[in-house]
Amino acid sequence: MLGALNKIQIHMKCKLCYNDKELKNSHIIPEFFYKPLYDEKHRFNVIPLSEDQKFRYEQKGLRERLLCGDCENKLSKWEDYVRRIFYGGKEILITNGNPIKIEGIDYAKFKLFQLSLLWRASVSKLDFFKDVSLGPHEEKIRQMLLNEKPGSRFKYPCFFIMVLMEKNKVLDDFIYPPNTMKIEGHRTYRFIFGGGFWIYFVSSHTQMLNTSKISEFFLNEEGRLLIPLRPADKIEFFINLAKDVVKYNKHKNGP
Ligand SMILES: [Zn+2]
Repeated sequence: MLGALNKIQIHMKCKLCYNDKELKNSHIIPEFFYKPLYDEKHRFNVIPLSEDQKFRYEQKGLRERLLCGDCENKLSKWEDYVRRIFYGGKEILITNGNPIKIEGIDYAKFKLFQLSLLWRASVSKLDFFKDVSLGPHEEKIRQMLLNEKPGSRFKYPCFFIMVLMEKNKVLDDFIYPPNTMKIEGHRTYRFIFGGGFWIYFVSSHTQMLNTSKISEFFLNEEGRLLIPLRPADKIEFFINLAKDVVKYNKHKNGP
């Protein structure tokens, strides 16, 4: 009886291709980005949103039944490509400095990976992603993913800022719920994982960003990505976070 019930629950419409198939329990943010967070017991630390929230340990990354096996495979090919750029195994030209310059990237694979993350977060019903809601852009991005059309560099562009906690030590030990804000008049969504901020521009007039200095940091069609390095103590978010953690610890330890 219980088995039959489980079967009903996992046969649903895939969020990407709309076929009625068995849905996989997919991750939203690929697990390789959690890796630095895992302790020896395979738990990761989720930083509290506010002083009232507890530190939570989870046995696995955040998962949800969103995609059929075919769509999951499609997305995991892009993920695998990006994983090999960031975590080794991919022959690619990286020039150190600030910004870090990466050349020879497969534009379509990398861009589709970026878009797939944003889209999954929007489709997700998990509380962690509640601030990501793309409205009409969700369907536009679904079509791009389904048809494997990455669009131009100005179509839903994203830039990545690597955060330095200390000299030469990159932030690699936490993820944080994504949130939304306006930058240069555009709606953006900020994700934190894989050592820094991923900032997505989601509006219909992002072409206007071609005159902005920010656009230097968008992955371009020639496969070049510039990644600026910023010290955490120069970023307002981390200054505020440090204050929150102090407050949280005080709260936890009583008055
Ligand atoms: Zn599907």
